[in-house]
Amino acid sequence: MSDTTGLALAVVTLFPEMFGALTNWGVTGRAKEQGRYDLALVNPREFATDRHGTVDDRPYGGGPGMVMKAPIMEAALTGARSALGPKGSAAPVVAMSPQGRRLDDALVMELAQLPSFIVVAGRYEGIDERFLDAFVDREISVGDFVVSGGELPAMLLLDAVIRRLPGALGHSDSAEEDSFADGLLDCPHYTRPEEYHGQRVPQVLLSGDHGEIARWRRQQSLKRTAERRPDLMAELVLSEQDNALLEE
Ligand code: SAH
Repeated sequence: MSDTTGLALAVVTLFPEMFGALTNWGVTGRAKEQGRYDLALVNPREFATDRHGTVDDRPYGGGPGMVMKAPIMEAALTGARSALGPKGSAAPVVAMSPQGRRLDDALVMELAQLPSFIVVAGRYEGIDERFLDAFVDREISVGDFVVSGGELPAMLLLDAVIRRLPGALGHSDSAEEDSFADGLLDCPHYTRPEEYHGQRVPQVLLSGDHGEIARWRRQQSLKRTAERRPDLMAELVLSEQDNALLEE
């Protein structure tokens, strides 16, 4: 893996098999085959020091659940760095956590530009705070809710990053037109048949007039964003043209 020219990724996880959902299918599967990224999976279980493979322990202070042990996570992280080869020593470390910064397109793009990074997935009540303090550069959340483990959040993050790697999507411009890339929601899409349950495809899309189509799509994006996500709208500085489209 050390000779990879693509993005070098490693995930520390108790359930490495889950990541087949990312590496075997669709856009992220094809990008892997094309060598646009490499993914090393490191299981903390392999760094347990007792014969039961213990990775967690009861929380100090009592209460429910278990906590992932700091020394074992540290050893697994070192394992992840060596799996990444020369890129490993400088790789930033991200931990998935509901207490982290909320994932968004800006953060995805920032990560997509790195040569490598490591993702740590928690389980149980989470990871001993001292490991997070000492070794984790940033915590990232996928939303204000709690799931049972960091694997699905890590896969969400990695899918979002991988599809933004150069060439990962068939059409180089299809990411730019997706929601959020330009601060707006995407426009609605239609395909055949032309009429469906009495509803016709907007006439302009059949016109073949590329200027008019682009204008209509931009207008739809603006309208939807204003209606559905006033919070996004508030952050935008609209051009005179956009303002005119929105007023129409
Ligand atoms: N006790 C913790 C939640 C633990 S859930 C708390 O309330 O903050 C177990 C693991 O799932 C976490 O360590 C984290 O890796 C992952 N996880 C759960 N919800 C998440 C979210 N919204 N975003 C990112 N990771 C999450």
